Amino acid sequence: MIIFFGIRYTTGRLILTGQECPACKENHSLAVIPQQGYFHIFWIPVFPISRDYIPVCNSCGSTFIHKRPPIDREVKSQYKTPVWTFSGLIIIGIFLLYIFSMMLISKI
Ligand SMILES: [Zn+2]
Repeated sequence: MIIFFGIRYTTGRLILTGQECPACKENHSLAVIPQQGYFHIFWIPVFPISRDYIPVCNSCGSTFIHKRPPIDREVKSQYKTPVWTFSGLIIIGIFLLYIFSMMLISKI
C-alpha cells in the first residue's frame, strides 16, 4: 500500500505592518503574507508545523525572502493557525473516543 504524506503550505490574508519598505522607502507600505505549513496524510491535514511571514511591499511589489526586515510580534499575532489544519488529529481523536466507548459498552 502506498501512503501519500508530506508537508503542504497555506497562506493567509495580507497583514499591514505600518513599516517602511527597505527597497522603495515608501512609508507604511510593508505588509506580510503569513504562510502556515502542515503535515498531511493523503492530503488530509493532520497537524500544523512551521509558520513563516513573507514580507512584501504594497507600493513597489518587492518581496524580501533572503534579507528580511524585522516583523513585530504584534503583527505576527494577528494571524491565527487555521483550525482545519488540525482535521486529522480531530478525526483520530473521534475514532479513539469511539473505540474507547465501544470497549466500555462491551464490558457492561
Ligand atoms: Zn517598496
